[in-house]
Amino acid sequence: MIARENPARIAEIVGTVVAATPGDVDRIVRWADGEQRAWAARPIADRLTVITEAAARIESAIEELAELLARESGKVVGDCRGEIGFAVRYLRWVVEHAPAAYADRDTDDERGRIVEQRRPFGVVAAITPWNAPIILSVLKIGPALAAGNAVVVKPSPLAPLTIDRVVALFDAPIRAVHGGPETGAALVGHELVRKVAFTGGAAGGRAVAALAGDRLTPTVMELGGNDPAVFLDDATFAGDVMDRLVMASFATSGQVCMAAKRLYVPLARLAEFVSSYREAAGRVLRTGDPLSAGVTMGPVISAAAQRAARALAPPDAIPLGTFDADPATGYFVRPSLVVAPDPDSPLVAGEQFAPIVPVLGYTSEDQVLAWANAGELGLGASVWSADEGRAFAFARRFEAGFTFVNTHNRTGMSLRAPFGGVKRSGWGREYAAEGLAEYVQTCVIHAPAAFRPGAEPGGGPSAYPAH
Ligand code: NAD
Repeated sequence: MIARENPARIAEIVGTVVAATPGDVDRIVRWADGEQRAWAARPIADRLTVITEAAARIESAIEELAELLARESGKVVGDCRGEIGFAVRYLRWVVEHAPAAYADRDTDDERGRIVEQRRPFGVVAAITPWNAPIILSVLKIGPALAAGNAVVVKPSPLAPLTIDRVVALFDAPIRAVHGGPETGAALVGHELVRKVAFTGGAAGGRAVAALAGDRLTPTVMELGGNDPAVFLDDATFAGDVMDRLVMASFATSGQVCMAAKRLYVPLARLAEFVSSYREAAGRVLRTGDPLSAGVTMGPVISAAAQRAARALAPPDAIPLGTFDADPATGYFVRPSLVVAPDPDSPLVAGEQFAPIVPVLGYTSEDQVLAWANAGELGLGASVWSADEGRAFAFARRFEAGFTFVNTHNRTGMSLRAPFGGVKRSGWGREYAAEGLAEYVQTCVIHAPAAFRPGAEPGGGPSAYPAH
């Protein structure tokens, strides 16, 4: 049994789920494999109806689900509502776009007849983290089911309760299995799992990719990030801009893959920036119970995360916003800004995944680009400028999978653009047409013109076509 405590009130157990043994994982994967054939044989319109119905059920339960998610994850209830609402919108987006994405392409021309079939893989394993368990699971579940796959979801044991409820709302071949790395490994290593979609950190990703690689099972990897936010010398520090920036760093207590994790401003404007940033934090950052009105930041996820966050904050870190929480009864961490730390310090060079944010002053665009592009992670980034053309030109030089202009992360999310990392932030894509394409394999049937019944005899078989 896995019991999940409320990170804002450690003494409160929010709920339990049954931990899956390797035998349970085997039984569930075999069940999913058996169901998948009939599911794939149904017309796509039927499968999409099932997804539409699931989206409606999730939407009608949104208040209850958001509260449960806030209690198990420590994320503020408004953000939980936002995450679940976004998952519903994404499912509807899949329903709209799947028919074109998954249709066979049948051409008959001077080359002969070519049919490109989009076929499901079979059983898809979805392994997801705790920080946005609903949207990050639904990004895999929606397209995988639409394409005719069965799905086995392995959520994080740190937030298993809400996703367990969401999975049960699909009248489709999908189940959740619960547990930690061993459960994930039993799932990824199963002979009947044909595709793995993983979101999480580098260590877990490496282990999952190695296991999948051993079986030659294809993977989608969405890994960590250490997103830079670069203010060009013409950028404004106006109130609304600073408010947006503060929440891009501190939403979910800094535990977001694409949070603004390190800030860079022209050295000559550093003092002005720090002052505007502190004022903005005073306006928009209030730490407290995630279910209380007006609270914009809750606790971190666990005692280990609380210890790690405290270790990252030097004594001169500037505390931010209103702190209305007790770090003894919940895993709370005082949000803070660290001015001009060593560019090679762990807070700047690694992914802090905590509400401690560094700001550094730079003296030239080349210097800040070198700093921003340092390190192995290339998930997101942002550039802030009064001149959009200049911002786009600068953004082309970032080593990042996704760059925002004059915002960062959640306020800029769009279903039209694919997300994913470069360098060691992962491979594969989610959202948009690229995300749909991850869940089908293309099989080609070709009758070359020269060998079709009734074709003029000539030439004989040659090793390569003429063009
Ligand atoms: P994690 O890697 O610890 O866990 C993710 C999932 O993988 C969990 O379900 C976990 O139980 C499982 N897992 C871990 N090790 C495993 C192993 N050896 N074998 C099989 N399964 C294993 O990550 P986390 O702490 O839950 O999430 C935080 C990380 O996720 C951060 O690095 C964050 O940046 C990243 N993240 C990335 C994205 C993205 O879209 N790129 C989104 C959210 C979070």
